[in-house]
This record gives sequence, C-alpha cells and structure tokens, in this order.
Amino acid sequence: MNVDRTIKFKLELSEQDKETLRQTMTLSNQVFNKIAKYGFENHTCSKVSIHHATYYDIRGKYPELPCSILQGIRDVACEALKGVEFKKLPKSKQYSAIRYNKRVCNINLSKKVVTLASTKGRVKAAFPIPEYYRQYLDWELRTSTLSYNKQQNTFYLHVTIRNQSPEPVDGNKILGIDRGIINIAVTSNNKFFNSKPIKNVRAKYTYLRAKLQGKGTRSAKKLLRKVSGKEERFVTWVNHNISKEIAAMPFDVFAIEDLNSIRVQSRVRGMEFTRKLNNWSFYQLEQFLRYKAEAAGKSVITIDPRYTSQKCSNCGHIYKGNRKGNSFHCVKCGFQIHADLNAARNIADIGKSGIGRLTVNQPYMTCDEVEARMEIETEHSYNASHLSAE
Ligand SMILES: [Zn+2]
Repeated sequence: MNVDRTIKFKLELSEQDKETLRQTMTLSNQVFNKIAKYGFENHTCSKVSIHHATYYDIRGKYPELPCSILQGIRDVACEALKGVEFKKLPKSKQYSAIRYNKRVCNINLSKKVVTLASTKGRVKAAFPIPEYYRQYLDWELRTSTLSYNKQQNTFYLHVTIRNQSPEPVDGNKILGIDRGIINIAVTSNNKFFNSKPIKNVRAKYTYLRAKLQGKGTRSAKKLLRKVSGKEERFVTWVNHNISKEIAAMPFDVFAIEDLNSIRVQSRVRGMEFTRKLNNWSFYQLEQFLRYKAEAAGKSVITIDPRYTSQKCSNCGHIYKGNRKGNSFHCVKCGFQIHADLNAARNIADIGKSGIGRLTVNQPYMTCDEVEARMEIETEHSYNASHLSAE
C-alpha cells in the first residue's frame, strides 16, 4: 500500500536564476503545445509514437532544453490528451507549471536545497520547510512540478512524495463530508453545518450585486467590488470555522468528493454538480480543511463523487428516484434519511473501500497564504454558535 502526498515549497532564487527559470518554462510550454498538437491531430497519446514523431524536430529547434525536461513535457502532454479524451486540444500558457522527473530535479529535504535543470544548466534554490512537513523527511521522492506566480514573482516547487508502507488506517477513523449549498457541510457522524446567517448574507449580496450591475455607473462598480469583497471575507470566515471544527473531530482521515475529477466532470451533468463546480467556497473549505488536518497530523482524501447522492447508504441500491430534494427514501429497503447525510455516509464508505489506493494531496496554498486569509477573518465578530446545529 502506498500513500502519495504533494507538498509545496516556496523557492528562494536570485533574480538571474528566476529569469533562467522563466525562460525554461516559456520554452517548455511551447514544446508542450507542439507535442499536444501533434498528438491531437494524429489522435495518439502513445508516448513512444509521439516521441518518435516529434523528438528530433523539437531537439533541433530547442537545443537549450535538456532532453530529460523534454521527456517530462512529453509525458505530461500524453496524459493531458488522455485526460480530455481528445475532445479538445490541451494548451499551455507561457508560465504554466512544468513537471520535473527525479533525474532533473535533485531535492535534498534535510539540507533544504534543490537543483533544477534549466536552459542554462542547473539552478540551485533553497526552500524553508514548515515544521509539520518534517514527518515526511524519510518518504520517497517522486515527481516535482515547478509553478510560477507572476504577480508575486515567486517560484514554487510541488513535490510528490510516497510512503511505501504506512500504518493501515482503521475504517472507523474515516469521516465522510458532503458539501452543499444549504448545508455547507454534513458529516457522516450526523453533524450538520448549516448557516442561516450565511444564507441571508448571500441573498443580500446577490440582490445588491444584481442591482448594482444593472446600474453600470462608475460608483456602482466601485461599490460592487466592495460588496463582493465583503461577501468573500464572510464566506472565508465561515469556512475557517467549519473546517476548524471538523479537523478537530476524533477521526484520522477525512473523505470528500473530488470536484476536480475530469472523468467525472464529463459524465456528470446534473445542475447540482455544475453549481458545486462553480462555487469557489467549496474549494476554499477543502483547502482550509486540508491545511488544518495536515497541521494536526491527519489527512484528507478525495473520492469519486459518482452516485454519492443516488446510492442508499443502508443497502447500496443505486436509483436516481431515491432522492427527492432534502430527503432520501430507498425504494428497495425503505430506509429514510436526510439526503445530505446519506451522501456523507456514502462518501465515508467509498473512502474506507478505497483506502488501499489512497492518494492524499496537500493544499495548494502556502502557510503564508493561509495566514494572510486568517488575518482578514478577524474583521468579523460573528457569533460562531450560528454556524452549526445538530
Ligand atoms: Zn436501501
């Protein structure tokens, strides 16, 4: 049994090395687009045939890119083609993240330095390690991804690490969490996190936004930005509190639905799911939960969200008509339960059965970013007791 985890480091680099990495990324992404285009037009995602068809041409046009980087780009392009099932051409932007395999990226976790292949030889960077990452020092290093934040002029390295034989997880220690609009979160241990205040606040802001957007004047636009900012800060504050409470529950693993699953996105076309995807607060709740769980030595796993709302958590029968709004009534065994709680229990069950091939990811946020978000939360003095109700 393997557990994979991705941890993120902020790299300390000289301005000159940053320029080198920017150039490396720019060229790499140009190569990505060329390879993806070839695969798309020839309907192939075979690494071997794409390699034979494109390698020498690219090698000649981009002599400054090390061939091991080229290999990484080709692998990513092949996976991207597979991921979208050739329905559209995968495209990279100038500074899209690029993958480094083990040979081109030497990471020394104990010395906190990394060397990365680039267009100008090896670039060396230091990175500070957050305290709670120290538990991973003896894990096996897998692939790494380099990302660039243009606004901050900062490079990040996302490192996937693997633990070959972790302690088996006790099934009773897994909590399923269903995220929703009315109930922000419902957990498989029968806890409902809903919020009348958040509903009222959202309704108020939706109304205000519609009114202001209609006006279209400069002052209305300014007010609109202010209103949106306030709403975001309020949701952030609510998510912070809910994630904190969930992370403190006596469970080791938290299972949630994978809202990023491409496979699922193309198959599930329900309104409910679309709404979920469009809602950044779902992602924020997930990020906060990951961060807080991680800090407590716990983990968050994502599960395939298909059927979580149609399946009976009592007998396993899957039928669309089992669910009507908030209530779930199984036509086969007669079991009745709140629909969101039914989903949360299914999520926990899928988490238990899938624990053998479990993938755990780190938040795509650094400590700094989380801390910065926490600061704005202190502006609110809302009564936390409004947030949860049994
Ligand atoms: Zn049933």
